[in-house]
Amino acid sequence: MKKQFAVIGLGRFGGSICKSLVAEGMEVLAIDMDEEKVNEFAPDVTQAAIADTTDEKALKSLGIRNFDHVIVAIGDNIQASILTTLMLEEMGVEHITVKAQNDYHEKVLERIGADEIVHPERDIGVRIAHNVVSENVLDH
Ligand code: ATP
Repeated sequence: MKKQFAVIGLGRFGGSICKSLVAEGMEVLAIDMDEEKVNEFAPDVTQAAIADTTDEKALKSLGIRNFDHVIVAIGDNIQASILTTLMLEEMGVEHITVKAQNDYHEKVLERIGADEIVHPERDIGVRIAHNVVSENVLDH
């Protein structure tokens, strides 16, 4: 059976993950509290929902615990990111990936049981630095 993914937060990061998962042929539920964002992604994903994921009832009514992998891509609102992750964990979601804004955010996410924590800006910076150094080495 196909893996079921849910992506919470349709900013640049969450949006890019949604599109890439769909391109890989995956089933994706896209969630955001902003109706415009949801409407923008709805045509491309399997399912799209407007919801504030800090609202436990809203989260439950989406049947989120049945998803194999949930990606929390809420950016600036660290409190919403933490609360959402905590509830996903308590509901027993199998695999949770969360975007961290800073080291403090990451520490809390580790404590509450996020399975994978990513820092897109930092990770890309490291990769680009590595690439430019490798190019320089090849040039010499
Ligand atoms: P990016 O850099 O990936 O664009 P960002 O850091 O700018 O992200 P935000 O725009 O702060 O991130 O958040 C990403 C999305 O998360 C937004 O579309 C926002 O509406 C959504 N979001 C924020 N809080 C919640 C919440 N409680 N429930 C659902 N969606 C939320």
